[in-house]
Parts: sequence; C-alpha cells; structure tokens
Amino acid sequence: MSHYSDAENTADSFDEIAGGSNDVMLRRRRIWDPDSASITSEIKDLLDDDANSLVEEDCIGCPLPSTPEDENVLETEMSDVLKAAVLGDELDITTLAQNAAGQAEHVVRRLIQVSWNVCHFNKLPDWLQDNDFLTHGHRPPLPSFRACFRSIFRLHTETANIWTHLLGCVAFIGIAAYFLMRPTVEIQLQEKVVFGAFFAGAIICLGFSFMFHTLNCHSQFVGKLFSKLDYCGIALLIMGSFVPWLYYGFYCHFKPKVVYLSGVCALGITSIMVSLWDKFSESAWRPFRAGVFMTFGLSGIVPAIHYGIMEGWLNKMSQTSLGWLLLMGLLYIVGAVLYALRVPERFFPGKFDIWLHSHQIFHIFVLGGAFVHFHGISEMAMHRVTVGQCEIPDTLIY
Ligand SMILES: [Zn+2]
Repeated sequence: MSHYSDAENTADSFDEIAGGSNDVMLRRRRIWDPDSASITSEIKDLLDDDANSLVEEDCIGCPLPSTPEDENVLETEMSDVLKAAVLGDELDITTLAQNAAGQAEHVVRRLIQVSWNVCHFNKLPDWLQDNDFLTHGHRPPLPSFRACFRSIFRLHTETANIWTHLLGCVAFIGIAAYFLMRPTVEIQLQEKVVFGAFFAGAIICLGFSFMFHTLNCHSQFVGKLFSKLDYCGIALLIMGSFVPWLYYGFYCHFKPKVVYLSGVCALGITSIMVSLWDKFSESAWRPFRAGVFMTFGLSGIVPAIHYGIMEGWLNKMSQTSLGWLLLMGLLYIVGAVLYALRVPERFFPGKFDIWLHSHQIFHIFVLGGAFVHFHGISEMAMHRVTVGQCEIPDTLIY
C-alpha cells in the first residue's frame, strides 16, 4: 500500500463523519489533495517522487512504511484528530483537513523511522548511487535526521563506516582532553598548541566523516553538504598532522619551519577550496579526489628529505621521526589507492556489501595512520625534552 491509498482512506473517513452529522458540510467537504499548499514540501516529495524507493510498490527489499501494523499507527493518529473535531461545537472540514495533513506528516516521519528496510543498489535514487560494486544492503532515502541517527544501530553498507570514525573521534577527544589538561609545568603552552592543531584536525576529520556517513541518505542537499565537510575534514587532518611534525623536526631552524608551514597552509586551503567545488563529490571524480589528498600528503616528502639531509639519515632520531612518518604515509596511501580503485568489492561484487569494502578499509587505515602519527610526534616531543633547548636561539638559524 502506498501513501496515496493512505490518503484515500483518510478522505473516506472524513466522508463517514461528515455524512453522519451534517449534509451541508458533506457538500462542502474537501478531498485531501496531495498538491494542497498546506502540506509541507517534504511530504510532497515523498508522495510525488515515483522514483523514490520508499513509495515504489515493487521495490524489492525496500518495503513501504505502510505495512499492516503501520496502518494501526495511522488509524490511532487519525482517530485522535477526528474525535477532537466531532466533540467540538462545529465540524470545520478545512481545519480538520489541515490538522490531518499535519498529523499525516508526523505519522509519515514516524513510519520512516521505524519501518524502512535495506535496498538493492538499483532501487536507490541517482543521488545515492555511489558504488555499484556494493549491490545490496543500502539505506533508502531517510528524510528525517532522527531516522538517519537511529540507522547507525542498523546493519547496512554505511554501518562500519559510521562506527569506525565515530569511535575514532571519541578516542581522540579523550586523548586531546587528557593532553591539553596536563599542568603547564609538564607540557608547555606552545606544545599544547602544536599538538592541539593535530588533535583538532583529527577530531574534525573523524567527526565530519561520521556525520557524512550518517546523514548522506537524508536528502541530496544534506548529503552533498556533508560530503563537502567530509573532504574539508581530510584536508584539515593533513594540515594538522604537518604542524607538530614540522615544529619538532625543524625546532631549531626557524626559517624552513615557517616556509614549510606556510606551504602546508597554502596547500590545505587549496584542497579545502577544491573540496567545496560541487563536482568534486561526484562518483566519477573519485580518483581525482584521492589524487588531490595524496598529492597534499605526499608534499611532506620535501621537508622529510630536508630533515634527513640536515640531521643525517642514520641518526637515531631521524630514523624514529622519519620511520613513523613513512608508516603513516603508507597507511594513508594504501587506504586511498584501495578507495580509488574500489578493491576488494570490484573483484567480488556483492560479497563485501556490509563488511570490509574499500571505504571501510580506507577508514581503518586513516584511523591507524592518525594513531601512528600521534605516536611519532609524541616521540619527537619526548626527544626534544631530553635534548633540551637549542644551542643558539632558533631565530638566528637558517
Ligand atoms: Zn568516509
């Protein structure tokens, strides 16, 4: 049963009540019209869009919210409105219809929240079709924020994407709170600032990613908005990761430190601007997206080589700093390549719909890369504490 038949039932109920009480009112009755201005545009979209999987009767794996138990919910909701109207002095059909439309919106929202089912890729609207190697287990459009957030407790193609970065975000908030609340005698203010840049990048990146994967099925507008924020978050994570590494790596070398930090800011701002471009989030641009962030990340090779030449490649500190940096870079690059090529689901379409598809692996590698980097910069900071201050004030050294 579709929303249309629900509307017809509602109109029939109006007939019975109006006919039993007042013939004049019966002639003046209005049939509930889906095009009425009193219905919100959101409900209209649900009613009008034949392509929408929620209203397609033949949508295999995507049953409509209007299941038999849903009818009971609808009847209960509607009867409250009708009872209130009948008990009143005068039966105002216009007000009644408006109330009914308002109640119908409420009911539709509730039904969407409780009765959706996962979809086949082909049943998704165009704006939700991203990876055709994931054949089943997709969420249908859920035009309600509450429904989207409740969906994180259901099993579908986005479940692991959501949880990997939600848990990562919570972990980094905990680490950041612990680190930044240490007494200043233990961790100096400027060290808190440079570590804070990394924590901010990680928390924003993981938080936006969690939000995007939770809300991308809400609507085309919301999905696009959060995909842009997701990409901006990646750019901020890369920027934030460079700050402490350059700070400790060039601790006593002011000029290269400023030059590299400026370069990172320029590349970061460029990446953010590209991320805000509408076309950037389209499926066809997936390799380009991976390329932009990989180029940004790989730009770290320049200061890394500079550092190796300056400190000596075989120096123990060089091996520690560059070793962790290299491992982080490898994790990000391998993750980004798998993401761009959509491996492994490309070779086994439909076999990785829920678990271990490329985007999840990418998420896990990003999380691993962020923790590896945190460990690396912590070791660099410890080394600085052990070595002590620069022999010559750093502003004089080029
Ligand atoms: Zn993601």
